[in-house]
Amino acid sequence: MRELHPDHDRVVAALTVPELAPIIDLVVWAGHDGEPAAFAANHLGSVRLEADGTHHVLSGIDPIPSEDPMAFLPYDAECAEPGPRLSTSNAYPYAAPRLLSFFSHPDRSPDLAIVHTPRHYFPDEGGHVGEHGSLDVIQSRAPLILAGPRVRRQGYAAAHARLVDVGPTMAVLAGVPEDDLVDRHGDPVDGRVLHEHLLPGEPRPVVGILWDGAHCGDLLHLAESGELPGVARLIERGVALRGGAVAQFPSVTLTNHTSILTGVGPGRHGVLGNVYFDRASGERVVPNDAATWHRSSEWLHGHVRTVFEMVADHVAPQGFPRSASIDEAIDRGADYSTMQLIRASGDARGADGLTDQLPDPHTSPFNVDPAHLEDHYFSWGVQVDDLGLQQIRQLWADPATAPRLTWWANVVTDAGHHGGGPRSAMARASLRQSDARLVAFLDHLEAIGALEEVTLVLTADHGFEGADPSVTGSWAPALDALGISYRDEGPGLIYLA
Ligand SMILES: [Zn+2]
Repeated sequence: MRELHPDHDRVVAALTVPELAPIIDLVVWAGHDGEPAAFAANHLGSVRLEADGTHHVLSGIDPIPSEDPMAFLPYDAECAEPGPRLSTSNAYPYAAPRLLSFFSHPDRSPDLAIVHTPRHYFPDEGGHVGEHGSLDVIQSRAPLILAGPRVRRQGYAAAHARLVDVGPTMAVLAGVPEDDLVDRHGDPVDGRVLHEHLLPGEPRPVVGILWDGAHCGDLLHLAESGELPGVARLIERGVALRGGAVAQFPSVTLTNHTSILTGVGPGRHGVLGNVYFDRASGERVVPNDAATWHRSSEWLHGHVRTVFEMVADHVAPQGFPRSASIDEAIDRGADYSTMQLIRASGDARGADGLTDQLPDPHTSPFNVDPAHLEDHYFSWGVQVDDLGLQQIRQLWADPATAPRLTWWANVVTDAGHHGGGPRSAMARASLRQSDARLVAFLDHLEAIGALEEVTLVLTADHGFEGADPSVTGSWAPALDALGISYRDEGPGLIYLA
């Protein structure tokens, strides 16, 4: 954990003025005073957060009085208002452990982080109508559904988990001994196996499916309404957690793909955000970009183990892939990997260079509204996800040669939620078309007689909230007025010189 910068107090004071409250939800950092602790402040007050969940108010009132991971449930409660206006009416699950992990990287953690209010709209700096990244419960709530022969059939359960639990749970179901859920230093992973939802049994093939940014509440609502028959089929054969799985902070894509697939938080795996600064190399790192998507091993630390590496350590080679990573950046150790195919192509443009070879989105059998293809990201998502379905059907052509662990990342759901915000026509269209691909895959498993043998996991990397286009502005002038040298990556990750 870094020492506090000499200008730290001035920076926090400048960012916690009432004038910035519409756009700044919280300023967060970590430090030592005796024990390592996390801190949060805004215009209402400041608090010290200990790892065991204890809050010590330092000034004013506690800016984050709730850490309830089940806040805004049932789903009607989330839909009833456009989003909390104050941090005191929001919830921030596992605030201390998540912040302590985020701030524990010696080179890549910023000095402090600014959490946008859910309503902040910042299109000039990359913001969208639908956004995520916050410490808050809705942007951190990813769906989690487990289904298959090793899963207790509970239907919709009033429960939650954490995304760091997903990889360890998949690894154990696939045959990794629980006592080997450790990194290369022998330290246990941060997540835990979700035994309360599992049945004992032999290792079986596991298929993990990620719908990037799929909104937990809306996904379950549509499944219950009969609009997502594939998801409903999974829930019939297992469990859907109402509280989903809590993302790591920041609730952004690559940080959480990495946390899912390694079982550890960002301070350990090193992917601090979709963009961050590395003091050791003096470089700004932008891992979450189509042009760099296939280079994850360059920023993922060597001492963490991916679930693919864990499977490779325990499942003997048999002449076909033991594990497969479809359209996933964090693919290290997978026998089959889309990103490895891109690396092998030698095209320096990465996934961008392969766009010409992707299926035509205009002839996709899964995209219903051609107008959505005018959004470039959505259109690319349709292409990538159609190719993903082709890959998983090939990998699962014959159950006798199918991987023990298959991981299939889907993109279009993130595009739909960014473009329209949660519950929008575009977001729901992205969920429906992802469900149609899921149905195609489940029908395929059924046709080859494998559906009863496979454990299926459906999750995402973060949630989403809708911004308010009338709430704009930037904190940059407040920082500039201090006359100090700083970098702001994200925006919101503040590195002081
Ligand atoms: Zn994402």
